[in-house]
Amino acid sequence: MAINESIIELPDNVRITVLDKLVSWCRSYSLWPMPFATACCGIELMATGASRTDISRFGAEVFRFSPRQCDLMIVAGRVVMKMMPVLQRIWQQMYEPKWCISMGACASTGGVFDTYSVVQGIDRFIPVDVYVPGCPPRPEQLIQSIIDLQTKIRAEDTMFGREFDAPTRQQAKRALQR
Ligand code: SF4
Repeated sequence: MAINESIIELPDNVRITVLDKLVSWCRSYSLWPMPFATACCGIELMATGASRTDISRFGAEVFRFSPRQCDLMIVAGRVVMKMMPVLQRIWQQMYEPKWCISMGACASTGGVFDTYSVVQGIDRFIPVDVYVPGCPPRPEQLIQSIIDLQTKIRAEDTMFGREFDAPTRQQAKRALQR
């Protein structure tokens, strides 16, 4: 039959995939974090890069302090209102596609600092992809959040940016910066 004649036998060592999946897979294993560490959670973030947990096993060890070279914002620690314009500006300077991990109770909810001067959750101002609970979270939890984010990136059809269809996704939820 004609349909069988068009089938090509591939050797066992040849794999085929769709380009979209390949791009998403590459992106998930080449995350470059932008650390925004303001308090004690930052110490756990630093420990995540040490030999015990070794974040480089997941392709995410290239910490950069220039937002133009990063695609993963990790907010570790409490953020006060005076810092929020800086955080928003760095987030908006990062190129798409980009992702955000909120590390610890303070970054995610304000933690024990239930006061007007502390941001009661950074997701009120910038989008967050993964939350890491704890005070402080252990490095293993941050590793798990990176694994979860990688799974999300591979499922999101990154090449065409369909996950960013929501027009508000990359915009400041509330503009503090001038
Ligand atoms: S969550 Fe706990 S460890 Fe992390 S910044 Fe807040 S008080 Fe410090």
